[in-house]
Amino acid sequence: MIYLFQRFVYQIPRGTRDFTIIEMQNRRYVEEKIRSTFESYGYKEVQTPTFENLELFTAKSGEGIIDEIYSFKDKGGRDLALRPELTAPVIRFYVEKLQMEPKPLKLYYFGNCYRYDRPQKGRYREFTQAGCEIIGTDTPESTAELISMAYNILKNLGLKKIRLKVGNLIILKEIFKKIKLTEEKQKYIIPLIDKNLYEELMNAMSEFRINQKDISEFIDILENSDIEKLRNYLKDNKNVLDEIEKFEKIKNLLENSYKISDLSVKMSIVRGLDYYTGTVFEIEAPCLGAESQLCGGGVYELIELFDGRPSGQAGFALGFDRTIIAMGEEKIVFPKKTIDLYIIPIDEKTILKAVEIAENLRKNGLNVDMDLLRRNIGKALKYASSINAKKVIIIGPDEIEKNVVSIKDMKTGKQETVKIDDLINFLK
Ligand code: AMP
Repeated sequence: MIYLFQRFVYQIPRGTRDFTIIEMQNRRYVEEKIRSTFESYGYKEVQTPTFENLELFTAKSGEGIIDEIYSFKDKGGRDLALRPELTAPVIRFYVEKLQMEPKPLKLYYFGNCYRYDRPQKGRYREFTQAGCEIIGTDTPESTAELISMAYNILKNLGLKKIRLKVGNLIILKEIFKKIKLTEEKQKYIIPLIDKNLYEELMNAMSEFRINQKDISEFIDILENSDIEKLRNYLKDNKNVLDEIEKFEKIKNLLENSYKISDLSVKMSIVRGLDYYTGTVFEIEAPCLGAESQLCGGGVYELIELFDGRPSGQAGFALGFDRTIIAMGEEKIVFPKKTIDLYIIPIDEKTILKAVEIAENLRKNGLNVDMDLLRRNIGKALKYASSINAKKVIIIGPDEIEKNVVSIKDMKTGKQETVKIDDLINFLK
């Protein structure tokens, strides 16, 4: 019994992962690529804590969310939660400390998130999100820029088979009004729309006594929306025409200025979280199957809920882990990590000089490793090639006497003798 318990303790917790050396190299590569796209649009990085007061997450989503997150009491009896997402923490940070910053404020971040999800491929209990928020504007051009940035982050990583879908929750709410779906009934059917459960959706609408013609029209508009169709469908709901026009401007900017051709308008994009209010979007990679959503976001309202001054706000979260899986599915080749130099001291007497040279080269900005196992040259060279060393420096007693070393280029195989004093110049 004790033995079984011990075995369990020494296993990785459900829904979490260890990352190998290669996986970490690939993750860092992806992180840097994403970072450079964020920065190319003028976004700046921030960081918030891994845990927050539980109330930050229940404030908008309600107590129900507690079942889906890791929450706990600390030793002082405070109710805390490991963050399930980063928008609420970043907006909390903004309201507490950043409200006076010049606008628009463009913030990006990377962080681990925790959800008590049922683990499967692409769905973990600990996962990483990259995301951003833009605060202080709600112009069509700011929303279009945000959406194009999300799309370009994925394109810049080499992904070709992705799909961008945009929707709008203000327009969707007007559609609900038109078919007389009360807030109560909307709460029931929104999750069905979110999960594309159309049969259940139609059954629920029949039960709500919505006539068959309205149901068919509604399903059609959810799936095959285009702006003209929406305008026509809602022509009697005058108060939404401005939002339709704004939505159209965003779509036109994305298609004509950002040249995103594979965009579709889908009123069925409702987003799982409750704080979105205007244009919303999702990007998916169909090759991922059930968990195909890579990124989601849009215009929302959260600042006011945290007692901040009203301000335009929009953002998105990108699933870092799923992006890497999608890159694997599209057979995108990650760059190999190399090391500039590997130093092999031929015998014990040359170790001192080898250490001295290694340290001097490191101080001059080179990445240097050296043989620490006193292996013979053949084995040491094999190891050097396994760690992708670009060059190998071989130091023997004869060389030390002449104040030189041998340098072997691992790609060409060419070997040269270089004076120790000229090493830095030679390598630069
Ligand atoms: P959300 O905050 O739910 O809109 O999620 C944003 C993105 O995070 C999704 O599009 C996914 O790519 C990713 N994501 C959400 N939940 C998980 C999870 N449990 N495991 C891995 N990635 C996730």
